[in-house]
Amino acid sequence: MADEYISLKEALHRPDRLALTWEMVPGRGVNAPNQKKVLEMAELAAQDRLLHGITLTDSPGGKPSILTYPLAVAIKKSGIEPIIHYTCKDKNRSAIESDLYALAGAGLKNLLVMTGDYPMDSVMGQAKPVFDLDSVQTLRLAETLNQKEEAGFFAGAVVSPFKETEAETMAQYYKLDKKIASGAQFIISQMGYDVKKMDELAKYMRKKHPNVALIGNVFVLSLPAARLMHANKIPGCVVSDALLREIEAEAVLPGEKKERQLLRAAKLYAVLKGLNYDGINIGGHGLHYQDVKQIIEQGEALSADYQSLLPEFAYAKPGRFYLSAAQPTSGPAGEEAKGKTARLKLFQWLHETVFAKEARCFPLIRRIMKQIDDSSLEKSFTYFEFLVKGIANQCRFCGDCVLHELAFICPMSSCPKQQRNGACGGSCEGWCEVFPGERKCIYVSIYQAYRATREERVLQERYFPPCNWRLYKTSSWLNYFRQLEEEENEKREK
Ligand code: SF4
Repeated sequence: MADEYISLKEALHRPDRLALTWEMVPGRGVNAPNQKKVLEMAELAAQDRLLHGITLTDSPGGKPSILTYPLAVAIKKSGIEPIIHYTCKDKNRSAIESDLYALAGAGLKNLLVMTGDYPMDSVMGQAKPVFDLDSVQTLRLAETLNQKEEAGFFAGAVVSPFKETEAETMAQYYKLDKKIASGAQFIISQMGYDVKKMDELAKYMRKKHPNVALIGNVFVLSLPAARLMHANKIPGCVVSDALLREIEAEAVLPGEKKERQLLRAAKLYAVLKGLNYDGINIGGHGLHYQDVKQIIEQGEALSADYQSLLPEFAYAKPGRFYLSAAQPTSGPAGEEAKGKTARLKLFQWLHETVFAKEARCFPLIRRIMKQIDDSSLEKSFTYFEFLVKGIANQCRFCGDCVLHELAFICPMSSCPKQQRNGACGGSCEGWCEVFPGERKCIYVSIYQAYRATREERVLQERYFPPCNWRLYKTSSWLNYFRQLEEEENEKREK
């Protein structure tokens, strides 16, 4: 038992210790036994003062589970801080803002902001996915409330580094940079068992974001969980063929299965500590507090010789991309990539011909647009734009177009989660989380197109605000010229 309780924020900034959190799943249903167990376990953790926080999941797998706020209040009262997993999947920006007011008011200041898994069946059937804000925008909202209202949020975010392809990996790292630029003060990595990926994430953070804490994920891997992760049923979590084979073989060995699972978790703890992570988040189904304590104590004992454990976590698929192997931009090979580049160049040329101020025909186009604007032609013109962009870019008619900034691939229609600021964590081997094996993640296509034209950094540097729904079903072309006019008028008035 530790002498005094140390908060998550304080523990993350003390070089003499690892910040330790335990991830719990309160579950579904009105009187689910898990909810009672979560509170009991949190009370044990609070008494022992070894952990610095309890993280509470938000409808994992997209299946509705109990809202965690009342439970979080009870956990806080027991003497340990809760960390709320805050997802954007089923709330629009108004609901998110209301939630944040309520959370701040209740003293629940630790947030782990994430996109969220795609909503699955609820009691009433398939839910409508919302995703009005993405994780980057939600972090900005929390940061705005911190500045304007002294809300006091300590917000963090998630990164999924265990990706196979260059495009997916880079999309994760670019989004990580945006999350940090938008206010994330700590980062928790997703589940995976590839030590090279763990190491490169730690090095990246130390180099680029030395003041942002990094927490590694240690999951007590049972056979059913390993099978689910291997089958890509838990978005972002990766178990390779080799690891699954090993866990299946272990499952038929005589002796205590759980002891072996806890030992693997303790070894991973030791490795992450050795790789200089600032904290460890421990998770797993059906854990008792004593299991968590055992992982920590064993992990600490093993950490002195963590190098000898590295080969035990070298589960990489052949051909996996690593940051260390990244080449200077040279363009992807293959016909698919060539096709994407040609498409991008064609659309860029068309866009610049019409919208670039320095284009020869720009003054004429601007005059024509002005004539159309507010005339009887406006409605027909708006539908004409919708028709053209519907055929060429699967336009969804939001009126707040970012096509020209995202390689002319529409996030509103082509991404099931409508992500404007980069990929969610759920893609697997290049495929979209929601349509595995059917549709590529749009950020794979966007990255590939931009990489060939050496513009991929737009995915890292450019922040996109949430879609302005006031513009819904208006012409984004007319909106562009209107906005130009307003900006020029403002300048003249100054
Ligand atoms: S397209 Fe990419 S970002 Fe969108 S939901 Fe699918 S995996 Fe996530």
